[in-house]
Amino acid sequence: MGLKDITDRIAAACDRHGRKPDDVTLIAVSKVQPLERVEAVLNEGHRIFGENRVQEAEGKWPAFKERFDGIELHLIGPLQSNKVRPALKLFDVIHTVDRPKLARAIARIAEEEGRMPAVFVQVNTGDEDQKAGVSVDEADALIALVQELGLPLKGLMCIPPIDEPASLHFALLAKIAARNGLTGLSMGMSGDFEEAIAQGATHVRVGSAIFGERDYG
Ligand SMILES: *Cc1c(COP(=O)(O)O)cnc(C)c1O
Repeated sequence: MGLKDITDRIAAACDRHGRKPDDVTLIAVSKVQPLERVEAVLNEGHRIFGENRVQEAEGKWPAFKERFDGIELHLIGPLQSNKVRPALKLFDVIHTVDRPKLARAIARIAEEEGRMPAVFVQVNTGDEDQKAGVSVDEADALIALVQELGLPLKGLMCIPPIDEPASLHFALLAKIAARNGLTGLSMGMSGDFEEAIAQGATHVRVGSAIFGERDYG
């Protein structure tokens, strides 16, 4: 566990699969973690972090941004349209664009705020009822809309169903990306980031394996 262990494992996975470590961005997922654990990882020199909730991120990141240069924040949780403005003020990358209304809201508010985030389209690769993400069938149309709106689209993101082999979902996401000419793939968490790298992940989102288990108590 810990930052160094994870960066070593990413480098080894890249080595095994003919990837360059520089082509895989490690997003340290700091949601719910105690501030001192987050600060320790900042002190180790890491600057790229992921959060799932706008409000939680607003409570901790402005102060860290004053103390540490070069922080890059990624929103990896669902975004409600009425939270787009505060999200754009804080986040550099939004991984969870999953419906036309949200894409349009981001495009409009980004222009008003003069702050354009990079985005990923989240695909519900398991077509799970309760899960966020555009359905596999509607993914191509949403990708086209995001591009039409002029949002800087980096690629696709998925969270595989917990009870199925993740690699099938990583492969499906890579296929949808390839047929749309996209290279970015945000996939892989603590339990499966090495498999994701094998399948072409460019952004892995790792929380508990860096910071320790989350305590929701
Ligand atoms: C919490 C979360 C992660 C990190 O999960 P770990 O299993 O702690 O690595 C990654 N992606 C998303 C979307 C998350 O919500």
